[in-house]
Amino acid sequence: MIDLTLTEEDKNLINMIRVMGENFMRPLGIEYDRKGQAIPPDHPFFMMLARTGYQERVASLGRELEGDKADAERGKRERMTARRAVIIGEETAYWDRGVAVALPGPGLAGPPLSIIGTKEQKERFLSIFKDREKPHWGAFAMTEPGAGSDVARIKTRCVKKGDRWILNGEKAFCSNADRADFIVVWATIDPKLGRSGHRAFIVPRETPGFKVSKVEKKMGLSAYASCSVVFEDCQVPEENLLGGEKAYEGKAGFKTAMQSFNATRPTIAAMAIGIARSAYDYTIKFIKENYMLSRPIPRYHKIKDDIARVKRYIEVGRLLCYKAAWMADVGIPNVVEASQAKAFCPMVAQESISLCLDILGDAGIQNDHYVEKLYRDVKALDIVEGTGQIQRIIIGRRLFGLPSEEV
Ligand SMILES: Cc1cc2nc3c(=O)[nH]c(=O)nc-3n(C[C@H](O)[C@H](O)[C@H](O)COP(=O)(O)OP(=O)(O)OC[C@H]3O[C@@H](n4cnc5c(N)ncnc54)[C@H](O)[C@@H]3O)c2cc1C
Repeated sequence: MIDLTLTEEDKNLINMIRVMGENFMRPLGIEYDRKGQAIPPDHPFFMMLARTGYQERVASLGRELEGDKADAERGKRERMTARRAVIIGEETAYWDRGVAVALPGPGLAGPPLSIIGTKEQKERFLSIFKDREKPHWGAFAMTEPGAGSDVARIKTRCVKKGDRWILNGEKAFCSNADRADFIVVWATIDPKLGRSGHRAFIVPRETPGFKVSKVEKKMGLSAYASCSVVFEDCQVPEENLLGGEKAYEGKAGFKTAMQSFNATRPTIAAMAIGIARSAYDYTIKFIKENYMLSRPIPRYHKIKDDIARVKRYIEVGRLLCYKAAWMADVGIPNVVEASQAKAFCPMVAQESISLCLDILGDAGIQNDHYVEKLYRDVKALDIVEGTGQIQRIIIGRRLFGLPSEEV
């Protein structure tokens, strides 16, 4: 049965994030939003995180997602992992979601590497995060200019020549690629094969033929870089084929990507709830400081209804995230629940922040206002890792018993 009680460990984790959030993440998020650029990789904050072993902890959290049930003690910890990711997702995004993504660690490359990577690949690429001298990043490149929602259409080609794979193509919106030590990139042996032609590679950043071609200018979440990357006759050694040849029998390559999305969707949803909670707390404080003690609240009934609605959305959204995470942790298939959380939370978070802006009145429509920043930040969460429309299609197809892979 689903248990919503926070353990002592959860509470400690939240407190730790709160300290980091209050002192570093929120101020840095605001600073780099104003600058309209990503936090530089050599920023003292990232250096400090490396020194304290933060990135090592994040990388080993990824390793726990690998689903290896051999060790009973480790299995016990694994069952807590999706839930812990949801808690971390909500709390870090509460302080600043852009900074949360900018933090050192394997990032979106973590789940596929942990789920499908060979022992040797995990050791080779995840062990770099043990470094206490400097920060490291991983990145994930699936999206292409012509293939976002419909990833079956990716065109980046991979051709085997001797003991190497040659990659050619372009990827878009790759988070932290400008600083990543390695990128997990998805390519196809033949676009006509659809998903069964997909292969994933771990490409170290110094590989000849790989380059970052552009850093996007985003409307929000400025603290991390979203990059276009190009592969031009990029030669990747065969031992960097993620999971080795066997992993691609049938449709496994594609399934792995989808599996990792199912693991991260509730976390992305929880991040939207974290941003909405940030707007809610700001608005409650604003009302208390500006109206209740000094003058009557204007439009009192409307404000009361609106803020109650925001609170309701936050509570319901969080429950959906916890349910999807709990199902993942106990091994119940959660495609529908993960999609429900992802479809619902960013949508209601956007509405919640919009309601907060209404409540704030003049203050809310000012440029460079904190809640205005949140309004810009939250939009991307409806897009990343499967848009709201795509989640609704997935849910619909499952409810009608149609094959979900056609989406
Ligand atoms: C801030 C940010 C960070 C990102 N980070 C990464 C990353 O690190 N790595 C990575 O690989 N990608 C990343 N992405 C890409 C992201 O996954 C894609 O943007 C997303 O999958 C949508 O693809 P698209 O932008 O090409 O939109 P499209 O797929 O072209 O969709 C455009 C619109 O059409 C709708 N649509 C598409 N197909 C259908 C359909 N069948 N039925 C109904 N509506 C449909 C969509 O919902 C959307 O509203 C990131 C994106 C953003 C914004």
